[in-house]
Amino acid sequence: MNTPRMNLLGMRPEDLAPHLPAVEHQRLPIARRILAHIISRGMDTLDGMKRPPTLAVRRWVEQNTVWDRLEVVERVEDSVDRSVRYLFRHADGSHTEAVLIPLDRPGRFSVCLSSQAGCAMKCAFCATGRLGLTRHLEAWEMVSAWLTLRDEAPGRVSGAVFMGQGEPLHNYDRVVQAAYVLRDPCGGRIAAKAISISTVGLVPRIQQYAEERHPFRLVVSLTSADPERRRALLPVAGKWSLEQLADALRAYQRSCGTRVTVAWVLMKGINTGEDEARKLKALLGDIPLRINLIDINGSADPLGRFEEAGDEERVAFFDALQILGAPVVRRYSVGRSESSACGMLAATRAREPGGMPPPQVDSR
Ligand code: SF4
Repeated sequence: MNTPRMNLLGMRPEDLAPHLPAVEHQRLPIARRILAHIISRGMDTLDGMKRPPTLAVRRWVEQNTVWDRLEVVERVEDSVDRSVRYLFRHADGSHTEAVLIPLDRPGRFSVCLSSQAGCAMKCAFCATGRLGLTRHLEAWEMVSAWLTLRDEAPGRVSGAVFMGQGEPLHNYDRVVQAAYVLRDPCGGRIAAKAISISTVGLVPRIQQYAEERHPFRLVVSLTSADPERRRALLPVAGKWSLEQLADALRAYQRSCGTRVTVAWVLMKGINTGEDEARKLKALLGDIPLRINLIDINGSADPLGRFEEAGDEERVAFFDALQILGAPVVRRYSVGRSESSACGMLAATRAREPGGMPPPQVDSR
């Protein structure tokens, strides 16, 4: 049986170097040059490398590795905010999406990436959650999506957010690997602080993340600090108490020295009361926080249970949150007119295997 070829798009130089047919001290520099050519410069052949490797290395790379990109099936630009939704078809027939997001600084973009085809978490307000999980994405598939958007962006892509289809920490190792490839000087060359990984709160994985002290920003989608309400909105919350989640976030904050970013999907009449602000303060008021408020995408719920909070309600909640003394930022969901905003994508492609992404796409 043939061994599957390694995909270079999911590798850092230290992953590739041990395999190369070269004397030991030359392997890492050669691996750096190969990956910089393929990933940083986005080349599709080894031709044109500034310092080409020996024939033996070149032959080995061509026979044992691939660096094919995912197939783009569709690109749809949002007429209002200019975000662009990309639909990818994977080799197994599943589909995922990524969204090119214009940032506030002209000519700068970020990319929202999917980490799984479908999602197992079943969040009540999310279209992707209704699809179930098809499979985890490989690191190279996430990097491939990012590279395609980087190469086609009409400006500089300076960030990545793992907030698309899927729960990133459910696919922990591959997502962390992809983040390191995106940060690598021979890979995506993005600053670690411009890479965010979101989670609905998988406590053991947050603890692992804290122990391993990765440099990327962790964003926890809390959405309610009331145990019962949170369990109703995010069924996975039934596995761990809010206190266990808060302890894991404290460990992350201590170990990584980073402010904890709390994402809060605003739902009219559900999670915008003063009681929520008080409970959040009791739960996490002792650590540095940053709170991102994100409007629910009501159209992702065919039962019409979730509606956008109005201006008055949103402002009242914003005011109530001031008791935390933490920055509170309203994040704008992008792509609404073209169905690529939070939780909308599955609604448009639900019959496709793998369906669509994300909640929490924002314009950071
Ligand atoms: S909100 Fe995120 S974690 Fe929850 S079902 Fe949707 S994609 Fe999965």
